Amino acid sequence: MSTRCLVTCEHGGNRVPAAYRRYFAGHESLLATHRGYDPGALVLARRLAGALGAPLFYATVSRLVIDLNRSLGHPRLYSEATRPASPAVRREILERHYLPYRRRVEGAAAEAIAEGEKVIHLSAHSFTPELDGEVRDADIGLLYDPARPGEAELARRWQAALKEAAPELRVRRNYPYTGKSDGFTAYLRRRFPAEAYVGIELEINQKHVAPGRAHWKKLQEILISSLVGAL
Ligand SMILES: [Zn+2]
Repeated sequence: MSTRCLVTCEHGGNRVPAAYRRYFAGHESLLATHRGYDPGALVLARRLAGALGAPLFYATVSRLVIDLNRSLGHPRLYSEATRPASPAVRREILERHYLPYRRRVEGAAAEAIAEGEKVIHLSAHSFTPELDGEVRDADIGLLYDPARPGEAELARRWQAALKEAAPELRVRRNYPYTGKSDGFTAYLRRRFPAEAYVGIELEINQKHVAPGRAHWKKLQEILISSLVGAL
């Protein structure tokens, strides 16, 4: 079975469309934090997609408008800024900014699978070095569902390749979140069988992210070469 890679970035930016700016009065400072977007994730996703020759799907509207990595009905699909909006406005946000993105990615996966290919979906994210006073003890996290053998195998191989290329990096599986918890990959696992769909969320510690800095560029290269070796 041949494979087709898809790269996505659900939290690529912190843009708020003009129509929804009024809901952010009093929440402006949140937008610039890790709550507003995943710094570095889109840069990395672009590099990954380029290196793999894979299509890239990304969003630059802030997750505080609507979170593309949450399922419908999740209590944090909307943030404290947009939750107070009327049901009609929330529906409009959903139809303009959530459903088209989710459908495009699901459609691309469905198309590849219908053509007999195995989809490897890489969803690029970053995490804050410290959350609620707790220092996160990892440089890189690979999130997957341990019950899906293809995902467990790819995560294990990628972790091993990273360890060989950069032993100083602490790479952890299903940390700082578990791959099974709600997310776009978790949703797609329910749509496609394990042998056809492999979904991995890549989580980078934001302490390594600084545009233009040699260290961050080097880390991107290591992530890409190790993944290519693991595939
Ligand atoms: Zn994210």
